[in-house]
Amino acid sequence: MNILVIGANGKIGQKIVNKIHSNSPHDAIAMVREESQRDQFEKKGIKTVIGDLEKDFSHAYEGNNAIVFTAGSGGHTGDDKTKTIDQQGAIKAIDLAVQHKYIRFMMVSAFGADFQPPEWPKNMAAYYNAKSAADDYLQQTGLNYTIFKPGMLTDEEAKGKVDFGERTDERTGSIPRWDVADVIVKSLDAENTYKKSLELLSGPYQVDEAIEKV
Ligand code: NAP
Repeated sequence: MNILVIGANGKIGQKIVNKIHSNSPHDAIAMVREESQRDQFEKKGIKTVIGDLEKDFSHAYEGNNAIVFTAGSGGHTGDDKTKTIDQQGAIKAIDLAVQHKYIRFMMVSAFGADFQPPEWPKNMAAYYNAKSAADDYLQQTGLNYTIFKPGMLTDEEAKGKVDFGERTDERTGSIPRWDVADVIVKSLDAENTYKKSLELLSGPYQVDEAIEKV
C-alpha cells in the first residue's frame, strides 16, 4: 500500500512514517504543513507532500491508497481549532479516502472518546466530542478502518506490551507513543482489525499477540 500519513511531523506521525518505511512492505508518504518539515523524511528516501487540513489537501491523495490520520490541533489551541482539525479535518480526510477508493484507513482517536459522562471536565469536552464525531463518521463509511484510542501518551521508550481491553470507569492508563506507532503499523495488514475501534493502553500482551486476539 502507499500510505498517506496525515500529521506526519507529529510525535506519533514521525514514528509511524519511519516504521512503515523501515519495518513494513508498504510505502509511507508523509503529509506535512511546512517545507522545512520535508527534509527529515526525504533524506531517508521517504516521499513527502505539503498539505493543510484547513485548506484543500485533495492533491495529497493522488497515487496513494491507504491513510493513517494522526493529526490533532494539540492542547495549546482553543475549542474552535479542535473542531476544525480533529473533527472537520478528519471528516474531510475520510470523505477524500472514500472518493479515492482507499483500501485502508487508520485513525488515531483518544481513549474514552465515545464515553460521554456528564461530568467530563469542560476543557476536555470539545476534544472528546470532536474525536468521537470523526470516529462515528468513519464508522458509517464502507472503508476498512481501524480506530485506535490510546490512553495518555508518553515519550517513554517502547514497552512492547499493550492491551486492547474495553473502557470501564476503573480502566484508565497511558501508553508510550512508540508502542502506539508499532501497533498501528503492525495492524495495517491485520484483516481481523478491520472495522474495529480499539481502546489502547500499555498492558500484558506482546503487540503481535494483542493484534492476533482482536
Ligand atoms: P502532535 O505531536 O501534536 O502531532 C499532531 C500533528 O498534527 C502535528 O504534526 C501537526 O502539524 C499536525 N497538524 C495540526 N494541524 C494540522 C493541519 N491543519 N493540517 C495538517 N496537519 C496538522 O500529536 P501526537 O502526540 O503525535 O498525537 C497524535 C494524536 O493522538 C492526536 O490526534 C492527539 O489528539 C491524539 N491523542 C493524544 C493523547 C495525549 O495524551 N496527548 C492521547 C490520546 C490521543 P505540525 O507538526 O506542523 O504542527
